[in-house]
Amino acid sequence: MRKPAFPPDGDTIAAVSTPFGVGGIGIVRISGNDAEKVVRRLFVPHRPKTSLPSHRLCYGTIRNPRDQTLVDEVLVAVMRAPGTYTREDVAEIQCHGGAVPVRRILELVLAEGVRLAEPGEFTRRAFFNGRIDLVQAEAVLDTVQAKSDTALRFAQRQLDGTFSREIRAIHARVRDLLVQVEAGLDFPEEDLPEPESSRLRAEISGLTEAVQELLDTSRAGHWVRDGVTVVIGGKPNVGKSTLLNALAGRERAIVSATPGTTRDFLEETLLIGGIPVRLVDTAGICESDEEVETRGVALARGQIRAADLVLWVLDASRLEREPFPEDFGSRPADRGPGTPEAPADESLQGVPADRIILVFNKVDLLVSPERGVRTPALPGLPGVPVCALEGLGLEALRETILARLVTDKMDLDSRVVVTNVRHRLVLEDCLAALRRAAEPFGFAELPADLLAQDLRQALRALGEILGETTPEEILRRIFDSFCVGK
Ligand code: GDP
Repeated sequence: MRKPAFPPDGDTIAAVSTPFGVGGIGIVRISGNDAEKVVRRLFVPHRPKTSLPSHRLCYGTIRNPRDQTLVDEVLVAVMRAPGTYTREDVAEIQCHGGAVPVRRILELVLAEGVRLAEPGEFTRRAFFNGRIDLVQAEAVLDTVQAKSDTALRFAQRQLDGTFSREIRAIHARVRDLLVQVEAGLDFPEEDLPEPESSRLRAEISGLTEAVQELLDTSRAGHWVRDGVTVVIGGKPNVGKSTLLNALAGRERAIVSATPGTTRDFLEETLLIGGIPVRLVDTAGICESDEEVETRGVALARGQIRAADLVLWVLDASRLEREPFPEDFGSRPADRGPGTPEAPADESLQGVPADRIILVFNKVDLLVSPERGVRTPALPGLPGVPVCALEGLGLEALRETILARLVTDKMDLDSRVVVTNVRHRLVLEDCLAALRRAAEPFGFAELPADLLAQDLRQALRALGEILGETTPEEILRRIFDSFCVGK
């Protein structure tokens, strides 16, 4: 089979655009110069004289053009360029949603000399034909894969061009600067006059700030798009599995009264404040002779270190009976309570304090509840009292989790949020270039050629986000992650 041209050459492609299997309807989509011709060969309209008006659904049947056998009852839409998804002529055949009719119709379309589309090829054509930029193409994928309403909102803001406009505005400002600097380059013997150079300096620092502001949204943006991992850790039998169940809102983990029975990681995905959270329950972390248990402990430590956030569960009723530091870990008591940098429990060693929440479970068993939980002297570590068994205190825990994830700098309501790791990396390049551009201003002289070089680099980075200067290899990788038919 012929390998498709990477920037498309306009040959006609087709694919099934609905999921395989049984469904209400199935759609075969065709794009390219022959789309209409192919439909006219296969489609027998109910009203014989219809002219197949553009962008209208027409009712009829699909028949095998060789023997006129009926394949399925369909609705067909012919959409003539350029007002289409790909900016080429597009036709969609809607048939009954079953694997066989959809496949049969696709086969008939391919038999007319149409090529089977590669993954993401329709969207790729929309990009190469200039209907959408790369940010918008990526937003199509993000829309399909959105894990929450917030993720969908961010994806839509990329799809409708809000994000691209912001990037384009910065791009235009850098380009203007470059034009001015390059104009100065024509007269190398003359240094830029002082008022000129302080204006340039101000403009570069304004741009640096604008890019930094975008980057400040990227942590929350990435989490909303891709989710976060929250790991539940703690000694055996403190109620980790019960807490997982309570937060997930249904019986999922196997709860047992015998210590150390949760050996595999159980996980649930839930939404906390619009952020998809993968909640992982670790094995009871304790040293043990048993080989399996030991391996579980090592795995659990790995999970804890890799987590975005750790819920460290403690038994509040035991804390009431035993002094805190001894209970909290193997760290010798004479070294005093742990500091935020080095929490006392071994498993938490190396985990920054801002990634830990202490959960004081089993508050229902407190002998003197009026005295509250004996909270440890660990500054900076929030502690939340809960009763996982009865689901008490979970709202406060959810709020604490969200507060730990979303800091002031990560405004989920801000207009433009960087959700995509690729965008973040390229923006970081852009920021580095702008910072370099600002550096020479520390000295009296302004080396205009170096400045121009840095500004060009910043421009290239911004262009890479939009798909104007993106290497083909990266473009291929992006479109390869789409499904067939999109
Ligand atoms: P894990 O080993 O840390 O996962 O602990 P489990 O979730 O298996 O719970 C151990 C035992 O503690 C079980 O018998 C639970 O029913 C019990 N438990 C868990 N949470 C609470 C709670 O809030 N109050 C009381 N009274 N018991 C609890």
